[in-house]
Amino acid sequence: MPGFELFGTEEQKEVQDVLDNGVLMRYGFDGNRNGHYKALELEKDLAERMQSKYAQVVSSGTAALTVALASAGVGSGDEVIMPTFTFVASFEAILSVGATPILCDIDDTLTLDPEAVKAAITDKTKVVMPVHMCGSMADLKKLKTICDEHNLILLEDACQAIGGTYDNKPLGSYGDLGCFSFDYVKTVTCGEGGGLITNSKQYADHAHKYQDHGHDHIGNNRGAETHPFLGYNYRLSELNAAVGIAQLRKLDSTLALQEKNYTILRNALSEIPEVTFRRVPETGVESYAFLNIFLPTEKLAKKAHTAFGEHGVDVCFYWYDNNWHYYRKWEHLLEPTSLNKLSQEQLAGLQKNNKSFDASDAWMGRTISCLIKVGWTEQEVKERASKMIEALKSIL
Ligand SMILES: *Cc1c(COP(=O)(O)O)cnc(C)c1O
Repeated sequence: MPGFELFGTEEQKEVQDVLDNGVLMRYGFDGNRNGHYKALELEKDLAERMQSKYAQVVSSGTAALTVALASAGVGSGDEVIMPTFTFVASFEAILSVGATPILCDIDDTLTLDPEAVKAAITDKTKVVMPVHMCGSMADLKKLKTICDEHNLILLEDACQAIGGTYDNKPLGSYGDLGCFSFDYVKTVTCGEGGGLITNSKQYADHAHKYQDHGHDHIGNNRGAETHPFLGYNYRLSELNAAVGIAQLRKLDSTLALQEKNYTILRNALSEIPEVTFRRVPETGVESYAFLNIFLPTEKLAKKAHTAFGEHGVDVCFYWYDNNWHYYRKWEHLLEPTSLNKLSQEQLAGLQKNNKSFDASDAWMGRTISCLIKVGWTEQEVKERASKMIEALKSIL
């Protein structure tokens, strides 16, 4: 997954353009920038690649989720349904706009279970936020039907699945809003950065203003701009945007490498009957950022994970015990310890998350996710496959 494996002269050239004129900020200083508007250029490229009308780049994936929620008017009193398996950023972004994250079970797609979503809807629900974890997607068609029936917003967190598709559409472009992260370990990286896409002119317009203190961006005198509403600073710097431009251009070749390496490993593991694979919803195509496998039981999954380590197979994750990605270890979020006071509504809503999510536990307890790197040679992938098989045979 990490795009940093492919850094080269392309990134250097884009960054040099910015350093040559010294304008590190995306707005203003028109006379000094020698025609370079890297953040704007990245937005055009992102919108085009993701077949969306609008793109807004911001300072992180967490910022993209925050800005997306605010742009859709989500705030105090609203509930956002999100999966138990994600990254803490989803939970944080929802709280930061004043809304309440409502956890919901996942299924064998390792993302939101549509039936569990239906059961979690209340009259406060405003958004359903599937998170396309580890390179594959939620059942978007079912989720969209539910959203349409209940007049809810569908916001895709595609931070870990950039380049995957569903129903021939890029992930992130199927819902009302889609978000990406360009942090250092993502498939497309610019150090720190993120982006959101939408076909809604209104959401795009809101996002554009909200991420820059509410500036209206009319005319070329920042000092004279008006501010139709409150905003914050989630701007992306020109330096980061420059790296992002070069990285996004590499996305399709990165995806091809991921698919190639994924396929070698998957074909090898397919020969072991006890190993099964995560379900990819019909019409979905993975980004191949991870290979996600199920072992028959939690006990065997733990053993397999340990055996991988002992056999020198790195970058395989047992998320069930991970305190960033799975709700079980989010002690600071479930019983929230917050520096600033959360609202009474949020505190009351969060109580709903204090229960066990047995279906999620049953799937995650059996799951191991192996990162697919793009820098591996074919020989290295084949050796990795043999080591994985050896490791699995030692415990099965
Ligand atoms: C990385 C990530 C984010 C947040 O992105 P940052 O750029 O690190 O803020 C959000 N959701 C998921 C699923 C992620 O993996």
